[in-house]
Amino acid sequence: MKRAILIVVVAATACSSPAVAPPAETTTTAPAGSSTTTVTPNSTSTAPPPTTTTTAPAPPRRIELDRSDDATASRLEADADALLTIGVREAGTAAEAETADWLARSLRAAGLAVTVETVPLPNDRESQNVIARLGTGESHVVIGGHMDTIVGSPGLDDNGSGVIVLRELARRYAETPPPITVSLVFFGAEEVLSGYSRDFHHFGSRQMAARLGTASNLPDAMVSVDMVGIGETLLAVTYLDSDPTAADAVAAAATGLGIDITRRSRGDISDHEGFAREGTPSVMLWRPDNPNYHTAGDDVVRVDALLDVIAIVEAYVAGY
Ligand SMILES: [Zn+2]
Repeated sequence: MKRAILIVVVAATACSSPAVAPPAETTTTAPAGSSTTTVTPNSTSTAPPPTTTTTAPAPPRRIELDRSDDATASRLEADADALLTIGVREAGTAAEAETADWLARSLRAAGLAVTVETVPLPNDRESQNVIARLGTGESHVVIGGHMDTIVGSPGLDDNGSGVIVLRELARRYAETPPPITVSLVFFGAEEVLSGYSRDFHHFGSRQMAARLGTASNLPDAMVSVDMVGIGETLLAVTYLDSDPTAADAVAAAATGLGIDITRRSRGDISDHEGFAREGTPSVMLWRPDNPNYHTAGDDVVRVDALLDVIAIVEAYVAGY
């Protein structure tokens, strides 16, 4: 069921998804006339093709980007399954701790050096940052994504998508270390804490940025990967008028891959904020058009959308 949810969205390749995705079986048994066998991955068409004579059976999945392969797609789907199985991951709860534990254990099993730091919350609970450090180069870039959700949302896009992107990067860097030092950070407690005002958020990233700032050990750049699994529009967002160099470089990496990206400047909407305030060039990668974010319906992501962002971060790190 959960695995099927991911496949349905890839099959649809539509700009937006229904509020509640039907099971795959329902979609794939639609009449022949609604077959999607001729739809291309990035098609913007909203109607079935006019030709209704195709009799080819629907493929089991629709993952068709040239650089994709079944093994990669299966890994991303397995991560999506794991996140949906845990479900709502509110900061400071057992579910968020279970997520952190899953991440730390699996990264260590892949041979990576992992640090888990405790993040005290004002409600007397604790969150965590899970940090995997890779590579040995002089330059140091933090690639982060929050693992928590708001109350009531399974948060597969916000921000399971960032978690899935970081996990795939970890697997690739475990095989081939990056040319610079990369910290992959799964931040805790990014969302506004339930029952508190809107500034009570970004606890994990603000704590890490402040710690590194106090130690005069800030990274050279920071990338927050937050909500990148749904929507055609991809943004490279700076925190207000902070140093734009990381955003410019990430946007250039995307453009070099032929992926459309737009530069924006926004307020404190993700984990890049704390690092930007410390003076680190920081950027958020964000697809802003998911109508179901922060709802119970945030249970789908698109594999091709994730693959684009994985490729962008890889290219940015490779060219640093
Ligand atoms: Zn988020």
